Amino acid sequence: MTKTVKIGILGGAGRMGQMIAREILSGKHKAKLAACVEHKKSWAIGKDIGGIIGHDPVGVNVTTDKDAAFHASDVLIDFTTPEATLEHAELAFRHAKPVVIGTTGLASAEMAAIKTAAQKTAMLQAANMSVGVNLLLSMVEHMAQMLDEEYDIEIFEAHHRHKVDAPSGTAYALGVAAARGRGIKLEDAIMPARFGQIGARPAGAIGFSVFRGGDVVGDHTVTFAGTGERIELSHKASDRSLFAKGALKAALWLAPQKPGFYAMKDVLGL
Ligand code: NAD
Repeated sequence: MTKTVKIGILGGAGRMGQMIAREILSGKHKAKLAACVEHKKSWAIGKDIGGIIGHDPVGVNVTTDKDAAFHASDVLIDFTTPEATLEHAELAFRHAKPVVIGTTGLASAEMAAIKTAAQKTAMLQAANMSVGVNLLLSMVEHMAQMLDEEYDIEIFEAHHRHKVDAPSGTAYALGVAAARGRGIKLEDAIMPARFGQIGARPAGAIGFSVFRGGDVVGDHTVTFAGTGERIELSHKASDRSLFAKGALKAALWLAPQKPGFYAMKDVLGL
């Protein structure tokens, strides 16, 4: 019988932290909520996490005691800020406890701290925890490897009207995967949004186009356009809870792993 894994949430009162707590408390997994920590200025400090997410009290209060959270957990999940992630990577090293990191916008200092911790414990970092997007990344790389420049690669993404950056990090990652499959660097092939008299499409370019509007959670399509046929690989996210489900799956997988730096493709066996 597999043992129940004790999970600590770093940034437990945030949007993603609450979704992860809800997923753990759903009772569908061999997981127990062991700790919930927050920024010292958080409105949630001292409150039972069950109450925060509209559940019965579960006896786990949101605290600022990170050492106690690392001590009580088999594995932790971090959806916070790059600054907090740096601190959490140092704690992972000190306590030799695995951490799943979903926080985005990490710079080289944070990545270096995560890699240092990975010498002592299992660390996983992924900018997109969706199982489907990670499958798509792997399929795109494989497809780009099999199809030559006779097939034009175009990446389309759609997001809600509030998104401020473009293209999305996931669209960019899809471009990197396609370039890797072709054995080139994305910088040498990237073709961003077009407008006006731009001339014919250069062979081998990897094109990007972007839609913004409404409440779209996130759509991504990679098209391989040949002569006489088109192959389209698409992913459509309709609910942010899929990132929480992916993070929990990653944590359950990571808990018993040897020290090392892991990605979602390791969890999914891709
Ligand atoms: P959020 O602002 O709702 O939550 C972040 C939480 O972290 C807040 O509650 C905040 O108080 C807490 N926090 C900040 N500093 C802290 C500290 N020093 N110690 C402990 N807690 C601290 O944001 P969110 O929407 O939950 O997103 C969090 C991060 O996850 C962002 O970087 C976002 O881009 C990323 N994200 C990643 C994925 C993925 O699949 N990898 C999916 C969604 C969001």
